[in-house]
Amino acid sequence: MTTYSINLDEIRQRAHDRANDFDIMLHTLEFRAEISDEALDALVERVAQPIIHAIDCTQCANCCRSLHVYLTPEDSTTLANFVGLDEIAFDDQYINHDEAHVVGEWGRFADRPCRFLQGSLCGVYSHRPETCRTYPMLTPDFRWMLTDLIEGTSVCPIIFHTLDAMERLLDQLDQHLDVPPVN
Ligand code: SF4
Ligand code: SF4
Repeated sequence: MTTYSINLDEIRQRAHDRANDFDIMLHTLEFRAEISDEALDALVERVAQPIIHAIDCTQCANCCRSLHVYLTPEDSTTLANFVGLDEIAFDDQYINHDEAHVVGEWGRFADRPCRFLQGSLCGVYSHRPETCRTYPMLTPDFRWMLTDLIEGTSVCPIIFHTLDAMERLLDQLDQHLDVPPVN
């Protein structure tokens, strides 16, 4: 099985070194209108699957240390019940609404790293917020999320290795996608 580095210093350096290549991929994909979003997403999922399988997130946890975690009211209720606080007390202790509202979200954890992180493990794993369950979200709409994903290459090894692999396919995209020839 291929191994993928989760050394965060190395990932940051490689993300920096590849930034121009990723930008070229972004602009190339924007102009390849004949490639449907669905076909591109299917390829991304094929490329990402072995990377996700090979990387052990419990050895990394950089997202839990580095990123803002946005919450819904349902996330808050679930977590409050799980930690045994009433919802008002949980809100006071854990949630920042003002900064979340600036970006149109309901709330986010007030602290980074996340207070539920225990070493590199999630202390509320079975009750974690939806944002945590879906991160890193590579699809749907890979093409239209690529700007944000490029930013994520210096944070998340899964994102870095997936974009690294996708960029290497760029010259032969038509061979990997069911794209009709251009007349
Ligand atoms: S709730 Fe768990 S998965 Fe989500 S950021 Fe905190 S430690 Fe990480
Ligand atoms: S999702 Fe990315 S940043 Fe988070 S633990 Fe897994 S590899 Fe690390």
